Amino acid sequence: MLRISTASFLKRQFKRKNLRKLTKCDFSSSNQVPTQADVVVIGGGVAGCNLLYQLSKRGIQAVLLEQGKLTNGTTWHTDGLLWRLSRPSDVDITLLEASKNIYLGLEQDTGVDPGLVQHGGIFIARKDERLEEYKRLHTFAHYFDIDTQIISPSDAAKLSPILDPTKFIAALYSPQDGHIDPTMLCSSLVKGATKRGAQVIENCRLTNILTEPVANMRKITGIETSLGKIKTGCVVNSAGVWSRDVSLMLGLDIPLVPMKHAYIVTDSVPEVRSTPNIRDHDGNLYIKIQGDSINLGGYEINPEILKEVAQDFSFAQYELDMSIFEVHLERAKEICPIFNTIGIKSTVCGPESFTPDHKPLIGEDPKVLGLFYNCGYNSGGMQLSGGCAEQLAIWIATGGPEIQMFNLRHKKIQQTATNR
Ligand SMILES: Cc1cc2nc3c(=O)[nH]c(=O)nc-3n(C[C@H](O)[C@H](O)[C@H](O)COP(=O)(O)OP(=O)(O)OC[C@H]3O[C@@H](n4cnc5c(N)ncnc54)[C@H](O)[C@@H]3O)c2cc1C
Repeated sequence: MLRISTASFLKRQFKRKNLRKLTKCDFSSSNQVPTQADVVVIGGGVAGCNLLYQLSKRGIQAVLLEQGKLTNGTTWHTDGLLWRLSRPSDVDITLLEASKNIYLGLEQDTGVDPGLVQHGGIFIARKDERLEEYKRLHTFAHYFDIDTQIISPSDAAKLSPILDPTKFIAALYSPQDGHIDPTMLCSSLVKGATKRGAQVIENCRLTNILTEPVANMRKITGIETSLGKIKTGCVVNSAGVWSRDVSLMLGLDIPLVPMKHAYIVTDSVPEVRSTPNIRDHDGNLYIKIQGDSINLGGYEINPEILKEVAQDFSFAQYELDMSIFEVHLERAKEICPIFNTIGIKSTVCGPESFTPDHKPLIGEDPKVLGLFYNCGYNSGGMQLSGGCAEQLAIWIATGGPEIQMFNLRHKKIQQTATNR
């Protein structure tokens, strides 16, 4: 086994090819755009696929346009972690729980396994203040009927043999947390949508959004694409890190910034198979168990902000900058000594959207009727976009969501509109 130092890590980085397994969604794409659609969804990542599925379930005739192939943007990079208590607000927890329930029911509805794995999740508290927060989350969980337990470090180490129980004071264990495979999930969602009449068109770029004036606002009348025009009164911006480019077609700026986000994949550690994933908020880390490998990712205080992401960034990724990522390895070694010795099999570094308040942008634009947002997922698109898409589809169908989505909508989009 190789001990990880920055130097050896970088050496191996250059030697090894990236080993991320690349699978593509299995479905048939149309190569013609319809002349008219009730709703056009822009972007075939997990956010767009979730929305297409929810719209089709409500009998809304929707078409999804993807400039490349489904999942080729940020979605294919994902670690797919599904935590249900990772966002400490009642609305966010409702949305996270809704995502899990949607994913749980997908196979029965679509006949396609979405790749959901529920081996549980452990939140590690290194400090008293963190434990207080986890006790609060435990109470929240009780209210939402989410099974959780506050457990001792030694009990946590029994569940996850890589943890050093002397390095934290307690843990919050959620046995039904887990992760999901991005390609399998999108295949299942698209299957469910297309069997109800939705259309998916790959290799089709949105090039312009058409509007006409109404009172002191504008309303959507159609779009132009690389394959022709579509008449529609509703466009949903699910374009991930490209969402700002889409809104700028109408001169609208949105508070969404692409940044690099990454994780590393270790060599085989057979004893981790089927053990829970780990979240260490004090160390800004997450650990996902993928078969018998450990994926380690985190959130650094000096992330690399991207001015733009190329349109043809299809199934591509960035080389990991170890001088930025190193902090995660150092913090991980503190709670999991195995990171001192284990080797790295591959790295995954992709672009992800971030917003100033760490909440996605969901809802209708205050100045353009029929223009909706479904973007800005802050490294939580797998776990959040199921629930958000469900509410957004209800919103489009009935004029408003079923739950109070104020924090995800007005503040940011409206502020940006007011500032113009
Ligand atoms: C390394 C990494 C690890 C992650 N881990 C997790 C995790 O564990 N759990 C979790 O919940 N989330 C995680 N995330 C975040 C999650 O993967 C994203 O939030 C999610 O995939 C974003 O999906 P999306 O549909 O918004 O964007 P995308 O997947 O990027 O989809 C947008 C699509 O829009 C298309 N598009 C853009 N412009 C146009 C146009 N003009 N016309 C037509 N199509 C267009 C693009 O080609 C793209 O396919 C991770 C992200 C990264 C990078």
